[in-house]
Amino acid sequence: MAMELKKDRIQKLLYSENLEQIDFNDLSNLIRQNNDISNYLPDGDFQIDPRDGLKIIFNTARSKRPHDTKKHESKTSDLNSCIICDGNTTSIIDLAQLSEGQTFINQNLFPILFPFEKNATSDKLNCHGMHFLQWTSSIHGNDWNNMPVNDCVIVLKRLAALEKKLLCNNSDFYSSNQDWDNEENTKGFVSIIKNYGRLVGGSLQHAHQQIMLSSVMPLKYKHNLDFEKNNNLKYSKYILLENPEDLTVKDYGEAVLIVPYFMRRPYDMQLVLKNSEKRYLFQLNENELLSCAYGISEAIRAILEIMPKLGREPAYNINIHNGPGAGLYIEFLPYTQEIGGYEHIGLYLCQGRPENSAEILRNLINA
Ligand SMILES: [Zn+2]
Repeated sequence: MAMELKKDRIQKLLYSENLEQIDFNDLSNLIRQNNDISNYLPDGDFQIDPRDGLKIIFNTARSKRPHDTKKHESKTSDLNSCIICDGNTTSIIDLAQLSEGQTFINQNLFPILFPFEKNATSDKLNCHGMHFLQWTSSIHGNDWNNMPVNDCVIVLKRLAALEKKLLCNNSDFYSSNQDWDNEENTKGFVSIIKNYGRLVGGSLQHAHQQIMLSSVMPLKYKHNLDFEKNNNLKYSKYILLENPEDLTVKDYGEAVLIVPYFMRRPYDMQLVLKNSEKRYLFQLNENELLSCAYGISEAIRAILEIMPKLGREPAYNINIHNGPGAGLYIEFLPYTQEIGGYEHIGLYLCQGRPENSAEILRNLINA
């Protein structure tokens, strides 16, 4: 029988069925009062590499995280057990029904950032935030690649609701983004990522996304912002204008899946929203959500099909670029090549050509 987090266990974990009804400050307090999380607090400080502005957040507690994707553990551990399906997780703040199973959001037990009180005693504290997990489905084996697209739309909508709750906050903890975002009154930064596979940071097999509110601007967001300032153009608009036509994988109506002409690794993809005025998931209309859900689902399916053929263990990262300068685009980074010394000095050696990757992806996705 398929593993899943059963309904009775979901009920035991349920704090709220709809995160939109939770006040932002109550959400912060919920995390502060969680005794389990208090055992794994982040160090609370970060540093900036003066050479390039890269931000390093210190978090020694995360080394204690459980991993069920580590190779040496998978031989000995029970393949029929999953801590999420067993209900060994934090309280659920959002729950939505899918055609099969449910999608839900809870607090990350090992948060990268934490909503430290302003009067916290340590003088080294200089960054704060909140870190959540969205479990794509309560059914262990279900994810974007094998769920009906309408279920993927629901997952995306719940992600968008959390993005809005976190960004449109009334807290003094986060500085206002009014210099580049004067419509939505957002504060802080929300980063949404997905790690799949042990080789790229995926620690649990049960499919999930990570969502973090941070007081610190991720470097790539700064790059997007600088791109817009320097070119007077959002990145999403630029790439749709400038990327060669033969690198388009599929046009989904409101969004386009492409291989960027500057592909760093074979099969890198970007799903770019056509309307470059939109900068957050929560601004998307039904058609845009549907286009994105199709794109995410088909891109992941293609990665999972291609990687074994390359003799590679399936592993990929997804980053949703929202906020300053981006427009809105989703980056798919399959782990098709290692990171070596040259890459660390900013010289990527790509063992493939973008036009070949695009053709293979096109044939696979449009088949
Ligand atoms: Zn599971």
